[in-house]
Amino acid sequence: MKKLLLTDWKKVELVDAPIPEPGPGEAVVRIKYAGVCGSDLHVFDGKHPSATVPLVMGHEACGELYAINDERTDIKIGDKVCAHTIRPCRSCEACNTGRENLCANVKIMGTNFDGVFTQYLLVEANRLIKFDPDVDDKIAALVEPLTVAVHDVRRSGLRPGENVLIGGAGPIGLIIGIMCRFSGAAHVVLSEIDQTRIGIARDMGFTVADPTGEDFDAICAAATGGEGFERVFEITSVQSSFSTCVRQLKKGGVMLQVGMPPAGKQFELDINKIIYSECDLRGVRHHTMNDMQTAAKIINSGVLNDQLARLVSAVYPMEESMAALERARSDKSVLRVLIDFT
Ligand SMILES: [Zn+2]
Ligand SMILES: [Zn+2]
Repeated sequence: MKKLLLTDWKKVELVDAPIPEPGPGEAVVRIKYAGVCGSDLHVFDGKHPSATVPLVMGHEACGELYAINDERTDIKIGDKVCAHTIRPCRSCEACNTGRENLCANVKIMGTNFDGVFTQYLLVEANRLIKFDPDVDDKIAALVEPLTVAVHDVRRSGLRPGENVLIGGAGPIGLIIGIMCRFSGAAHVVLSEIDQTRIGIARDMGFTVADPTGEDFDAICAAATGGEGFERVFEITSVQSSFSTCVRQLKKGGVMLQVGMPPAGKQFELDINKIIYSECDLRGVRHHTMNDMQTAAKIINSGVLNDQLARLVSAVYPMEESMAALERARSDKSVLRVLIDFT
């Protein structure tokens, strides 16, 4: 089999390796498509604090169960599957209060252990999630970004009929927008400065406003009756977007900081807005197995698959993985680049 090995920072090689054999409690997935995420590029560049080389990157994928050495009976060889992307310790307080995403000893796929940029992936059998057999492989490969959206929208507490502002119309902003619409948001407004991304978001039926434009406040006011947004998601981790998002919060509103600024970065905050308007500012970290089970159910239902299909911008064979990584980095019109490992 082949795997894409990060041999040193900014250096990948497609190398031969034996197909892994599952030990007790483990399984092997034959990967079909794997998506390139911004965090993979972060690891690739050597900027992730806990990643070490050599490493197989990647955490967005779907595949087929190839081998299993476990007592699980709900899943069999040949089933279409994905694997949850964190490995929690199951012993710490976070793990035992349903918040495995905050595990004190968490290991992250494609960062702290080998990920999905491979033809055969070794995983813990109890982190596998099954798809219906007829689900499109390229849509199934989007299950992890959809899981991010499930987790973030759940954490925002969004209720039907509320209005949503999303700071940043990149792939995560769009997929959160899709999830907010699905969850009953009345208006979803995306804030974006890049013209290409503005065009794509409008194409997908979203209201988009440029925060540097004169009509930004008017567009927001039209969506909210001038009262501000009940739920706000900030994706860009840029100060100006952060400030805009805080300013647009409704009284009692909730803002989620989704984007991760570089370590040590400090933000200026209009604290009086938070105090006098009783707003909540919440963080988000990874997601849980249950968030991914939910995302897989949504994909199985097919209800969002037409919208999700719009996120697949390009597919590269594994031999051209380097070109895929470069494209994902440089092309703003690209939402998700998939690598074909079949
Ligand atoms: Zn990702
Ligand atoms: Zn734990």
